[in-house]
Parts: sequence; structure tokens; C-alpha cells
Amino acid sequence: MKEVKVKKKKKLYEGETKILYETDHEELLLLAFKDDVAGDGGKKGKVKGKGAVNNQVAAHLFKYLESYHVPTHFVGLHSDHAMVVRKLEMLPFVVVMHNVATGGLVKRSGSKEGQALEKPLLEFYRKEDKKYASQLEEKAVLEAGSVNEEELVAIERMALKINAVLKAFFQRRGLRLVNFRLEFGRYKAEKLVLADELSPDTCRLWDAETGEKYDPERLRKDAGKIEEAYEEVRRRVFSKPGAVAA
Ligand code: ADP
Repeated sequence: MKEVKVKKKKKLYEGETKILYETDHEELLLLAFKDDVAGDGGKKGKVKGKGAVNNQVAAHLFKYLESYHVPTHFVGLHSDHAMVVRKLEMLPFVVVMHNVATGGLVKRSGSKEGQALEKPLLEFYRKEDKKYASQLEEKAVLEAGSVNEEELVAIERMALKINAVLKAFFQRRGLRLVNFRLEFGRYKAEKLVLADELSPDTCRLWDAETGEKYDPERLRKDAGKIEEAYEEVRRRVFSKPGAVAA
């Protein structure tokens, strides 16, 4: 993938797993991925190489989604652990999409652990609600005022399309896309685009055959072979796809 040349300037924001920098282009930011683990329990500290895997996987998936006309913030790779993105005004909520019942959803959906849902389930949470403790009703999202009704429908459609495209992408690589988190932002006070990251930190992926988990749960439980799990996802994402299982 072609690398985009921008000059790194002032640090704008440092989050748990990523850092945003201004660049010499007013509309572009540098999004640098750290090896740090998000602090929601379980393993603390760093996972060597995680930032690079997440950056490269996210870059590949954003590019892939763009080929399906899903607008994203991705502009290009900057280095092995950083990408150039469009500067956005982020929406204050996240979209969580489920294809398979697991964890708390088992109870809520009445399905068995690991059972595929009849149709994808879309949920909204406040961005600060890192534990996904209280789901936001559509009405609450609208009342918060960051999007209007038409835009919310557009976001839901985009999320469903992203799900369909990524589900098939991972399926061809022997992985089940169990659930994942999306963030959206507004470009130039107008257009809504997919932002943040798509990576093993934000997508719960299970091996389609063995059920092996390459997902954030592994970190939380400190289940071992964590570096290897990230590497395995990268290997699959960049592998030549096999035939789609019926
Ligand atoms: P957190 O803030 O939850 O600790 P991160 O470490 O992932 O999370 O920090 C990255 C931050 O950058 C997040 O707040 C995310 O919403 C924000 N962000 C992602 N993409 C963009 C973008 N294109 N423009 C502006 N902000 C972005």
C-alpha cells in the first residue's frame, strides 16, 4: 500500500490505545496505534506488535470497504503503526453490531452461546460507556442532538452494509465475525464517515472450524498466546481468500 507523506505536528489527543497528531495538512491527522492494552480489566500493559497489527489490519479493511463505496476516514498508511486520516468531528456514540450470541447477549436474545442470530443486531452505546453497560435507545441518540433522523437511518444502513461486506470477507478467511464496534464522525461539518479502527481490538473473531478465539476476551482473560493471536488475524486478513462455505 502506498505511504502518504505528511509531517507529524502537535499531539492533539492521547487515548488508551491510539494517539492523534496534527499534521502539516489542516484537514489531515496522523492516527498512531500503540501497543498498550485498553484498561477494561484483565491483562494490563503492552502487547508487542499489537499497534502495528491493528494499524495494518484497519488500513486494509478501510480500503476494502471503500471499494464497496463505504466512506471512511482513511487516506493512506504513514508507517507500520500509523495511518493518515481525515480530521473529523466524532459522534458521541458507538455502534455495536452482533452476528452471533455470546456473553451478555445470550441472556438478552434467548439464544445459545455461539449460536448465529437470525439477523444482525445493531446497538448504540455512549462512547464513554466502555463496558457497554447501558444501551442507548434510538430516541436517546436523536435527543443528544449529534445526528438527525435521516442521518441515523443512514448510519444504520452503513453499519449493516459494513457488516455484510466484512462478514463475507472474514468468512472467506475462515473467521467468524461474531460482533464488532464502529465509530463514525462528521467531515467538514457535513458528511458522515466511518472512523477510528477496525481491528482485533474492536472485532470479535472466532475460527470458523475450531472456535479458537482471536478477540478482546483473550486479552481480558489473559488467555496466553496473545501476540500470536494478533499475528494470526493479520495473516488471515492478508491471505488469499478461500471459497465461501455454503
Ligand atoms: P479512547 O479515547 O477511547 O481511549 P483511543 O485510544 O482509540 O480511544 O483514541 C482514539 C481517539 O481518536 C478516539 O477518541 C476516537 O474517537 C478518535 N478518532 C478516531 N478517528 C478520528 C478522526 N478521523 N478524527 C478525529 N478523531 C478521531
